[in-house]
Amino acid sequence: MTETESDLTGNPLLHEGQLPDFAAIAPEHIEPAVRHALAEERHALARVESVQTPTIEWLMDLERIRDNIHRVWSPVAHLNAVVSTPTLREAFNRCLPLITEFDTELGQNEVLYRQFLALEKTPAPELSQVTQLIAQNLRDFRLAGVALERGARRRFRELMLNLAERQARFEQNLLDATDAFAHHEADAAALAGLPEIVLARAREAAQSKGIEGWLLALDPPTYQAVITHADSPALRAHFYRAWVTRASALGPSPKRWDNAPLVDEILALRHEASELLGFENYAQLSLATKMAGSTREVLDFLEDLAARVKEVAKRELAMLTECAGYELQAADVAYYAERLKQSKFAIAAEELRPYFPLPRVLAGLFALAERLFGISIIEQPTGTLWHASVRRYRIERRDGAEVGGLFTDLFARPNKRGGAWMEGCTSRARLKSRTQNPIAHLVCNFTPPVGRDPSLLTHTDVVTLFHEFGHALHHLLTEVDYPSLAGINGVAWDAVELPSQFFENYAWLPEVLTGIASHYRTGAPLPPDKIETLNRSRTFLAGLAMVRQLEFALFDFRLHSQPRAQGGADVLAILDEVRDAVAVLKPPEYNRFPCSFSHVFGGGYAAGYYSYKWAEVLAADAFAAFTEAGAFDVATAERFRKSILAVGSSRAALQAFIDFRGRPPAIEPLLRQAGLA
Ligand code: ZN
Repeated sequence: MTETESDLTGNPLLHEGQLPDFAAIAPEHIEPAVRHALAEERHALARVESVQTPTIEWLMDLERIRDNIHRVWSPVAHLNAVVSTPTLREAFNRCLPLITEFDTELGQNEVLYRQFLALEKTPAPELSQVTQLIAQNLRDFRLAGVALERGARRRFRELMLNLAERQARFEQNLLDATDAFAHHEADAAALAGLPEIVLARAREAAQSKGIEGWLLALDPPTYQAVITHADSPALRAHFYRAWVTRASALGPSPKRWDNAPLVDEILALRHEASELLGFENYAQLSLATKMAGSTREVLDFLEDLAARVKEVAKRELAMLTECAGYELQAADVAYYAERLKQSKFAIAAEELRPYFPLPRVLAGLFALAERLFGISIIEQPTGTLWHASVRRYRIERRDGAEVGGLFTDLFARPNKRGGAWMEGCTSRARLKSRTQNPIAHLVCNFTPPVGRDPSLLTHTDVVTLFHEFGHALHHLLTEVDYPSLAGINGVAWDAVELPSQFFENYAWLPEVLTGIASHYRTGAPLPPDKIETLNRSRTFLAGLAMVRQLEFALFDFRLHSQPRAQGGADVLAILDEVRDAVAVLKPPEYNRFPCSFSHVFGGGYAAGYYSYKWAEVLAADAFAAFTEAGAFDVATAERFRKSILAVGSSRAALQAFIDFRGRPPAIEPLLRQAGLA
């Protein structure tokens, strides 16, 4: 045994069982375990590459290599997100490039690509999962440029590197430009209307700089608070202008962070890459991995939705204008929307909290899943995990057979990433040498219990919990044998939010609400009139919200559907055209929205922003099947489980939807759900 190997004994990340001892993982375990796993799997990969005639066993070996890396890296990534420390983050950051390098090598491996081509020609009767797995691998190899000629492949790699660098710079500029803004206010009256929590932070910021009064930053929570709550139109206008000109030549900061040239470069690089792969434009490339069939289909979908909603949005704007008593500017909309909402519905989010004690909400949610899908969710005793508040559950079928497991980590705390998410801890596998059930992480940032009182949720929190739980069911109720196709893995981006948004609907149903909502002290039920008001508030100003989303989606998609890369002036011209067609309130001329559209220019949503609306259509239409048959209809639920939740990406998303609904998705249920029909 060499010295390095002996160092690995007792490393909790290199365990034999399905799960590591989370509590035992320390930062110093990470790099040795990751390096060891990568070396091992590189050996295994060399063996796989040497196979002359690939078979299904060969495919299973490759799946196991990927799963083995996930086994080591998933706990590290998870702990870094929920119990981060500087040393843990350092270890994570040191290892991330190693993992990325391995993934890239695997994704661009020519030998594997040729083996897949050979395997594709081998007849594999009745095994639709295998056929799909081969097709998915070949698709991804081609999209990574593996099938290109030598010179073209080199150019493609160069384009990808340049693109990654430009996108990172776009994000950095946006961050720096946002951070550089500060608004000092000495007069308390000018800040009237702002919530106390925002004022407290601003006071602290001023104090830390040794100045009097308040110092307001331009981070998203502060910006949202100002344009929603500040009574001063001047303050709102000041913040609006700063926000919509961030990282642009018109921004409050000097030109050093102007993102406009980067936007042009990013578009040109994407266009060239898509042409190298044989697509007409980047939008076509984006759709190669999505449910939507063609660029025309996406444009028709967005334009059709816009045409149906625009009149409603206009009426809503007229209502706001009447409330304000003057012609509204873009900077005023959020403020008057909030005032009107308060006067119409008069339910403050905080007021409902006592009715949603977490233990009761969770019990109701689990009971709902048990009723619909015939499963039991049973809490398991655990030793110490990564935090004392974490709970573990076992999911079983009626006959007692284990389906999978669930970890819940639901409370906000320092050193935990914000927001809410579901993440696969392990994926279902039925491979020759590995049988494992899926386990999901469900993470939220709710207010922790205080003293003897339970954690109390707002209704928005309840909806979030149902949403993430929908993702978890998708991950857990899968019946697919290959990890790459199981649960949410490989599911088209524009369809992956179907189960989560579908499940949100239950958080609004009066039958469900009466089951989960009762006052944590008195036990009194949530009064029926509150439930009714809550439901009416759901669709309030839905038209305005939708035209805004459609404006973003159409702009993104049209921009990436151009026949060739466009120059700077054209980007704004396309935005103008889209706004003329869709928006009901034209933003001011100085608005430089593209310079801060980070979903599309910094992140992965390029020619994919439409996915939000697309998945909403699917979710609303799927739920309509339940409205027709009864929200708790067991036969419909069984069909939903079998057609959607069980199949992962082993079946194309459109086909899976048709299996469930008996027809392609229809737009009307979303319009009805949003009160826009
Ligand atoms: Zn989601």
